[in-house]
Amino acid sequence: MAHVHKRYEYDYKTGKIRLKNKICPRCSRIMAFHKHPVPRWHCGYCNYTDFLTKSPEAGGKSSS
Ligand SMILES: [Zn+2]
Repeated sequence: MAHVHKRYEYDYKTGKIRLKNKICPRCSRIMAFHKHPVPRWHCGYCNYTDFLTKSPEAGGKSSS
């Protein structure tokens, strides 16, 4: 956290912070980034969600 570039912009019209990096693959709109509880991109228009990190439980390892 030493040097953070400004990779997002503040939308004064809607009062939301939106990053300009990712576009929704479904509706081609700018997606919103959420850090909690897990880092992910979320589209508020079509509810598309793209998780940055895959769930460790989805590894398919032996459970029992
Ligand atoms: Zn969308």
